[in-house]
Amino acid sequence: PRVRDIMNRQVISITEDEEIRVAAKRLLKDETNHLPVLDGSGALVGIITTYDVSKAVVTDGKLRQVKDIMTRNVIKTTPDEPVDVAAQKLEQNNISALPVVDATNRVVGILSAIDLGKLFGGRR
Ligand code: SAM
Repeated sequence: PRVRDIMNRQVISITEDEEIRVAAKRLLKDETNHLPVLDGSGALVGIITTYDVSKAVVTDGKLRQVKDIMTRNVIKTTPDEPVDVAAQKLEQNNISALPVVDATNRVVGILSAIDLGKLFGGRR
């Protein structure tokens, strides 16, 4: 199977100029651990997780916006990538989700370890 077969198409994202507080609320409300971060044009520029928000709380009080704490070097996948290649990216980088992007760096889905688990549980 390919990423498109199991990815989650309902992506909850955030823009880089939002306050960290807004990101925290969104992570709580939608019960997700990863928010792809978009610039003003809608292109993927980072990713922010519950881990990053927690870290911001215990460190520098001057950090205010998503762009201050997001991870900029996003490890991502594409709809056409084989699922086993995407799974290796998760494993090798010790992360639990990959934004799925099209050729213009627009986020079209998100692939999480939970989605991979569905392959083995018999659910589609
Ligand atoms: N295993 C946990 C996880 O999956 O989030 C925590 C460790 S992981 C190394 C935490 C860091 O990975 C966070 O700073 C987060 O921004 C970053 N991260 C998560 N997904 C990422 C991705 N697809 N590409 C790049 N960085 C990512």
